[in-house]
Amino acid sequence: MIKVLSKKVSDKIAAGEVIDRPVSIVKELTENAVDAGAENITVEIRNGGKTFIRVTDDGCGIEPEETETAFLRHATSKISRAEDLDAVESLGFRGEALASIAAVTRTTLVTKPGDRKTGCRLVIHGGTVIEKSAVGCPDGTTMVVTDLFYNTPARREFLKSDGAESTRIIDLVSELSVVYPGIRFQMINNGRTIFTTSGNGSMKQAVLAVYQLSEYRDLVEVDREAEGFRVTGCISRPSLNRPNRRNQYYYVNGRVVDSRVMEKGVAQGYRERLFEGRFPVVFLHLRTNPGTVDVNIHPNKKEVRFHDDKPVVRVISEAVRQALATDDAVIQASDYF
Ligand code: ADP
Ligand code: MG
Repeated sequence: MIKVLSKKVSDKIAAGEVIDRPVSIVKELTENAVDAGAENITVEIRNGGKTFIRVTDDGCGIEPEETETAFLRHATSKISRAEDLDAVESLGFRGEALASIAAVTRTTLVTKPGDRKTGCRLVIHGGTVIEKSAVGCPDGTTMVVTDLFYNTPARREFLKSDGAESTRIIDLVSELSVVYPGIRFQMINNGRTIFTTSGNGSMKQAVLAVYQLSEYRDLVEVDREAEGFRVTGCISRPSLNRPNRRNQYYYVNGRVVDSRVMEKGVAQGYRERLFEGRFPVVFLHLRTNPGTVDVNIHPNKKEVRFHDDKPVVRVISEAVRQALATDDAVIQASDYF
């Protein structure tokens, strides 16, 4: 049920979500698709997303009576009480994204919950509902967002070239595809498929499908559970290393994050295996009880705050050491034969 949050709750939420470029729209739409429990998500853009963005999912859909509510500010089905903020399990919870997107674009929503015979189509231009009708459509939701900033042309000037904007979008969808390997993602740019993941659940398979680098074939899989944390993902053998951390990707409970704490855990895990100033390639997903991390910081920052950093560093460094040690044994065995 989608409801507008009470002022008491919405005041507690770090606010100020701004749609400043196409990638912010793609982020919100893809996160909504993940929250909807989709198994398949297709992202299609044209002209760097400035003229056309389409995100299609086969998730739970929106009830026809609730489609307009979904576009109201602070309208969400994901939380209702202030206490819910202490343990958010979904990617979204602010209820602001659709309202913000619809205000600066021409947006069309086509949606149908699985138990409904007919779906609903809602067209909104610059925040005003233009059309609402019943339509036949597959289960799930499609959002088509066109003509970004058509009603505020001055803001268009701040957009980068089509190429630069599409790079940001592809990077974002890449990161999301890796942390949700159980979802089949397809990324299409100007009619060309950039990547498709299998959705078979393996993060390493998703990394290979997305980045298409042969040197990633030897990434070592990580999986360790301790102290209330689970660390999964894949990391490079020490022989594959970089002069910076640009090929390190960290995730906490399904969110892309920047985390000094997780970086520290990785550095400790590789200690004595890498020279100063060299960095491994890592894709690491840390899962823990949502009550032990704070995600309500700032919507556009990738920051995350752990209630206690020490166990995080410990668990990650152990996970890395364990994976590398197991891999050493594999390499030695293969040398022998
Ligand atoms: P939030 O994600 O913070 O709840 P949004 O403005 O992004 O806020 O979306 C508002 C509401 O619309 C969501 O809470 C959800 O109920 C519904 N919704 C949006 N996108 C989808 C989708 N792809 N599938 C199903 N429901 C959706
Ligand atoms: Mg959302």
